[in-house]
Amino acid sequence: MSVGTSKHEPVLIAGAGIAGLCAALGLLRAGVPVRVLEQAAELREVGAAVSLAPNATRALDSLGVKDALRAAANRPQRAAMKHYHSGETLSAYDMGDAMEQRWGQPYLQLLRADLHKVLADELQRLDSTALVLGARVDGVRQHGDRVSVDTPAGRFESHCLIGADGVRSGVRAALHGDGAPQFTGYVAWRGVVPAESLRNPDFTPDSAVFLGPHRSLLRYRVRGQTAVNVVAFARVDSWIEEGWSLPADPAELREHFAGWHEEAADMIDGLCRSGVFKWGLFGRAALPGWQQGRVTLLGDAAHPMLPFLGQGAAMAIEDGVMLARALSTALAKGLGVEAGLACYERLRYARATNTVKRSDAHGLRLHRHFVDAADDAPVPRDDFLEFDFDAATTPLDI
Ligand SMILES: Cc1cc2nc3c(=O)[nH]c(=O)nc-3n(C[C@H](O)[C@H](O)[C@H](O)COP(=O)(O)OP(=O)(O)OC[C@H]3O[C@@H](n4cnc5c(N)ncnc54)[C@H](O)[C@@H]3O)c2cc1C
Repeated sequence: MSVGTSKHEPVLIAGAGIAGLCAALGLLRAGVPVRVLEQAAELREVGAAVSLAPNATRALDSLGVKDALRAAANRPQRAAMKHYHSGETLSAYDMGDAMEQRWGQPYLQLLRADLHKVLADELQRLDSTALVLGARVDGVRQHGDRVSVDTPAGRFESHCLIGADGVRSGVRAALHGDGAPQFTGYVAWRGVVPAESLRNPDFTPDSAVFLGPHRSLLRYRVRGQTAVNVVAFARVDSWIEEGWSLPADPAELREHFAGWHEEAADMIDGLCRSGVFKWGLFGRAALPGWQQGRVTLLGDAAHPMLPFLGQGAAMAIEDGVMLARALSTALAKGLGVEAGLACYERLRYARATNTVKRSDAHGLRLHRHFVDAADDAPVPRDDFLEFDFDAATTPLDI
């Protein structure tokens, strides 16, 4: 199946996750058509919720989804780190107005499904033919100035392919052959708990992390006051089950968090009641580069990261915005696809790779807490180094 032969031939994007949809919106807004090839038969985001720091909301606003995003999201007022056993506040900072004044953009929290819908609705509005479902990308081939892929929906061929197909990316495997992702030693139990099912639905502040030895528990409100996103993390020796997202055994979760403060226990009980999934967190060693000819990677396909800085989706969103700017500018100037992809990589590689390392380091600090007295100082999350970046205006060097 050819997708056109004109100068404005559609760019192929493998994966309609957060990264793929953002790249698609950016390209369409710049006048470059796209075909987003998604393996799923229906567009449905799994997982729980996501935090969007000001750098993520700034990038999303540039894609034309500002109003829809704010309508779907919560804006937390305050965040805290708490002691796992006493519940005592170890450190706290203002979010809400304080963050918006400092960075000119809000910090938002919402269900992943709601973010995904905001992006997919906008894609549908801009081009109702852009998304192809039931199209698992396989057989990536570059021949001359063409790229082709095989999918159950047919063969697609074009001048450019973007691999936005997540941590288990087939496009990455075809390009770089660097094997399967590795278990990072962290397990996460995730779920969305109805606030009304909690013993204390009036907890404060609205966003908090409980820190314990080798464990942590994150909770924040989503969908107004009606639901709470809860993620419990533990460091474990191995991950032996097949698959990386499995229905969890509540008894195992309770055992990991036995003796935690009643507010944390309320969240664990809520998770157990409302159905909880257990995720193995997988990562990869950094690639020396992402691009090969007319194909590149973005989001988790390029640089999967641990969730401890809350920046994985943010980096995927920034990637999408900057890929679209670099590629559309290169095409408009007649410089060609490869120059556009090279510009994207020059602008993104160091930032994304550095954020992966910072997230690793922050995870180690959080989970070492209360294991060794030397590490018992509160662990503030107060550097916010990522928040200033503006993917929509950072100058392109082409
Ligand atoms: C517990 C946890 C909490 C997190 N919390 C946050 C947070 O608070 N803030 C934050 O910024 N980030 C967070 N993240 C990270 C963030 O969720 C990811 O970095 C982000 O979702 C990556 O988006 P993506 O589009 O690159 O990949 P994905 O979301 O994995 O999307 C990939 C898409 O490609 C499709 N696909 C896969 N293979 C193929 C194929 N062969 N052909 C076609 N389609 C294919 C998939 O079906 C999917 O739709 C968290 C992650 C975890 C695990």
